[in-house]
Amino acid sequence: MATKVTKLAVLTSGGDSPGMNAAIRAVVRTGIYHGLEVYGVMRGYNGMIEDDIFKMESRSVANIIQRGGTILKCARSKEFREYAGREIAYQNLKKRGINGLVVIGGDGSFKGAQIFSNEFDIPCIGLPGTIDKDIAGTDFTIGFDTAVNTAVEAIDKIRDTADAHDRLFVVEVMGRDAGYIALHSGIATGAENILIPETKTDIEELVNSLSEKEKRRKLVNLVVVAEGDEFGGGNEIARIVKRRLPNIDTRVCILGHIQRGGSPSCLDRLIASRMGYHAVESLIQGRFNVMVGIVNNKMYYTPLDHAIKAKQKMSNQWLKIVKILAS
Ligand code: ATP
Repeated sequence: MATKVTKLAVLTSGGDSPGMNAAIRAVVRTGIYHGLEVYGVMRGYNGMIEDDIFKMESRSVANIIQRGGTILKCARSKEFREYAGREIAYQNLKKRGINGLVVIGGDGSFKGAQIFSNEFDIPCIGLPGTIDKDIAGTDFTIGFDTAVNTAVEAIDKIRDTADAHDRLFVVEVMGRDAGYIALHSGIATGAENILIPETKTDIEELVNSLSEKEKRRKLVNLVVVAEGDEFGGGNEIARIVKRRLPNIDTRVCILGHIQRGGSPSCLDRLIASRMGYHAVESLIQGRFNVMVGIVNNKMYYTPLDHAIKAKQKMSNQWLKIVKILAS
């Protein structure tokens, strides 16, 4: 049984997402408010192994709430996947008396935290930091709202040029094997077709719908594709459309990493602050090895191994809305 947490470390792991800084700030300041010592770990689990750990004060997190990226830097750590690496990491925490850990990252990071906690009895808390929104047990992940707003802004601009030239644009957005960025940005920009990994992409249906729109001279045609769509990304879809419908002037735009960066939205700052605060409260109350999420506007705690296993379900209603509004 883990002892009462008195010294806490925080790290950001996996891919970065906008709002991680706001979460770090909330963890540091809530910890200090409760009289804990708070340490920052650089470059995710790598910093724990390489002993790149430093004490943080309230001022260490001044002027970062509005900044994208993460002041603690993000990394993936091969060594942490091995017991030997995790043992070194543990020794580095132990020599400072650190007895609690907050990990801001994705499901891979939570898996690492769970294993580490089981092996060395260090209470861990996970905060969902990912633009992909691919974690069960929370309605929000830190960074998704900013990423999707970036995508919307970019697609609106593409729509202008699509309109001016009567072009078809195939826009690829991020999300790995989750279609949330595609679904949300596609609906919000009035895309005619949205292709996501959660539903089977019927290429015949896509070609038919585009040729039907061509016949009735629909002004703007936007196809939003999730990078993880099982049929292929933007280039693959555009290649087929060009071959099958050569009269349509088809262009591709891959939005790429612009979706990861930038100043976090108000929503991301709010949820990151709220989750960071509750991460520390939760550790203090002896509730650990959970991911702090928000469901129906209430804090919701999911055991780390469940946050890992189950992905969010795509709402059927959303999918129906897409079909109706695209007509
Ligand atoms: P993102 O969603 O941005 O990819 P993530 O947290 O899922 O974030 P991963 O690369 O899967 O990113 O995991 C981050 C790190 O967590 C890994 O580099 C590794 O150090 C650690 N980790 C992941 N899985 C394990 C595991 N099974 N055992 C130990 N450590 C792990």
